[in-house]
Amino acid sequence: MAYFANIIIDISHEKLDHTFQYRIPRGILEKVYPGVQVVVPFGKANRMIRGFVVEVTDQAAFEVNRIKEVDSVFTDGVAVEGQLIALAAWIRKNYGGTMNQALKTVIPIKRKAKAKQKRTVCLAVQEEEARRFLAEFEKKHNTARARLLAELLKHPKLSYEVVTQKLNVPATVIRALKERRILDVQSDTKYRDPVAHLKGQEYHTVLNGAQQAVVDTVRADMEEGLRRTYLLHGVTGSGKTEVYMELIASVIASGKQAIVLIPEIALTYQTVMRFYGRFGGRVSILNSKLSIGERYDQFVRAKNGEIDIMIGPRSALFTPFLRLGLIIIDEEHEGSYKSETLPKYHARETAIARARLADASVVLGSATPSIDSYYRALNGEYCLLELKQRAKEQPLPVCHIADLREELKKGNRSVLSARLQHLIEGRLLAKQQILLFLNRRGLSGFVSCRACGHVIKCPHCDVSLSLHRQGAAGTAYGALPVQGLLKCHYCGYGESAPTECPVCGSKYISGFKAGTQRMEEIVKQRFPSARVLRMDLDTTKNKGGYEKILSAFANHEADILIGTQMIVKGHDFPDVTLVGILAADLSMYAADYRAAERTFQLLTQAAGRAGRGDKLGEVVIQTYNPDHYSIRTARMQDYNAFYHEEIAVRKLLSYPPVSHMALILFAAKNGQAAKQAADYVAGWLKREPPAGLRMIGPAEASVAKVNDIFRQVIYLKHIDYGQLVLLKDKIERLVEEKIDKKQINISFDFDPMNGM
Ligand code: ADP
Ligand code: ZN
Ligand code: ZN
Repeated sequence: MAYFANIIIDISHEKLDHTFQYRIPRGILEKVYPGVQVVVPFGKANRMIRGFVVEVTDQAAFEVNRIKEVDSVFTDGVAVEGQLIALAAWIRKNYGGTMNQALKTVIPIKRKAKAKQKRTVCLAVQEEEARRFLAEFEKKHNTARARLLAELLKHPKLSYEVVTQKLNVPATVIRALKERRILDVQSDTKYRDPVAHLKGQEYHTVLNGAQQAVVDTVRADMEEGLRRTYLLHGVTGSGKTEVYMELIASVIASGKQAIVLIPEIALTYQTVMRFYGRFGGRVSILNSKLSIGERYDQFVRAKNGEIDIMIGPRSALFTPFLRLGLIIIDEEHEGSYKSETLPKYHARETAIARARLADASVVLGSATPSIDSYYRALNGEYCLLELKQRAKEQPLPVCHIADLREELKKGNRSVLSARLQHLIEGRLLAKQQILLFLNRRGLSGFVSCRACGHVIKCPHCDVSLSLHRQGAAGTAYGALPVQGLLKCHYCGYGESAPTECPVCGSKYISGFKAGTQRMEEIVKQRFPSARVLRMDLDTTKNKGGYEKILSAFANHEADILIGTQMIVKGHDFPDVTLVGILAADLSMYAADYRAAERTFQLLTQAAGRAGRGDKLGEVVIQTYNPDHYSIRTARMQDYNAFYHEEIAVRKLLSYPPVSHMALILFAAKNGQAAKQAADYVAGWLKREPPAGLRMIGPAEASVAKVNDIFRQVIYLKHIDYGQLVLLKDKIERLVEEKIDKKQINISFDFDPMNGM
């Protein structure tokens, strides 16, 4: 069989899908794989040039006898681009999607616009003289010149783009005025440095014994040439960030570089300042506020070796460091490390793959590790490291449970339990601060009983059934009348919604809805003298809105901060001594097998915000299900207990990490076509199922129709991830032959983070 290599000639080009195909001579077949640089004859004159192999295939793109041959393998060193292309091939293989999508994910693209050259036009004469020139131009009817000068008299500095585009002044006019020395054009060609404006405060913490032990372990492995993945399980405030910095310092000392992944939401001024304070200008950051040009500049700086540390969210993983030595993933349990667009890669697994290619180590850190990572750590796949105490030896906060069923029985129909109200009063008197956290994640319209806490679940999948109903208004815990159908979004099971609780017979059974805005009103009503801030998607929409609220709260401009998950991520407010978790159940019944894990994580992280200064913290968890293990264990701040309960459930129901899951998503404009395609693939899978495969569905996706696209899902479970990858390849081929891809889009999501 003949093999062909798809080769990309210029990888900084926007059109990464523009590949050229060459035949691979037998003699070098083994040496040609994605990422390798080869020499090929190019163009009419067959000039020998270098290119990167992005794919090896047995499918000829055109007539075989017209395909040229690869000349040779270029072995002089591995370019970092080669490594990233190899990583793209790994992503493509393990998560599906096209090679082009994978390449676009890992390769920083240079846009045509020369965004990095910033030019400004400014006045080069005194105002008086400028007015004389203006009069002259007006008299001569040199309208463009007059327009420009009049504007410069108002604003002595204008950006070049504003002048040529908004003012519509031709470049020739600017040049003419420049020659007459009426104005000046200044250009700033330096790469933008997003942290240049920061002034670092030199500081260096002396590690405590536990921190030092962790650092020593990793450092010893590194010195021995051992490259491993570590899971650092450290309680909130245990000083993980200090450990990361110490490790980075030794990596840099050995001439290597480091990538630090942080969830975007936690990438605050505070965090960046800590790294900047320690490492100064050798640090750069990536975040969604940077323009494409600025992002590209950061990658160029990294490649040129101008920086040693890149901090950023998921995409910072692809920083083209030539001498990558360490990748750190902070808050490794965060859902945002899984890409929501194709290819749906997970940054944790991809970081480990990159580290393998680069001969680097990986440190995953969290106070509440993902069940996946902890499972791997206990199996010995990762090396487990622990920090069991807070760095400053503050005790962990005291946790109370408020049983909302009891409150209802006592006639308290407010969303604030008596306990929480009482504690808030005390804190307001003592001028201490309060965080009220409304856990809204994964809210998917489950139905529960307010009298006994019972939640209606799928009898087959143990996830909550979702209520299908139109126009559910957002009242706080609104007792919305239940009408309609309950459905399972894994298997498609359905039943009609009950009007009374099947367990206790109460009529208080309803959809569960709550909003931060409504909470704010209720709190203000109850505590009219308190100053209240609210942080949610609405109040942080504007640029800097998020930072503004955080700093206002830090400056004691408010007593109470109400918010969603945004407020629980890594902020250090020393005067917060009370955290109220208003409705712990809200994430518990998301129609998703990770619901309990997410609940435990959110409760623990929220509780971890209390008592970080020198005053003891208290936490009130309000819930309808005080006996649920995710609440019981969060109350005790007992990760181990939670893990053991949760992994037992995963084992019982073959959910990841014990088994693996692949979601196949069928999307089409025509609902019937999506269903037919899903049925077709399901039928094929049923006819010759591989040993050990379990199929669930097909079913309608939980939001079956988005933007007029209908969606159907099939879930596959198998203990061996590799088998699922093989199935994906087979299904892709099957689909290629049998299904009209113009009508139906089929995509894969491995070990999905959010139920579809
Ligand atoms: P984590 O990342 O585990 O939540 P941090 O690294 O943010 O913890 O540390 C929590 C607090 O403890 C910070 O204010 C930090 O400055 C402080 N801290 C960390 N390590 C030490 C240490 N060895 N000595 C004194 N203070 C420390
Ligand atoms: Zn009930
Ligand atoms: Zn089900």
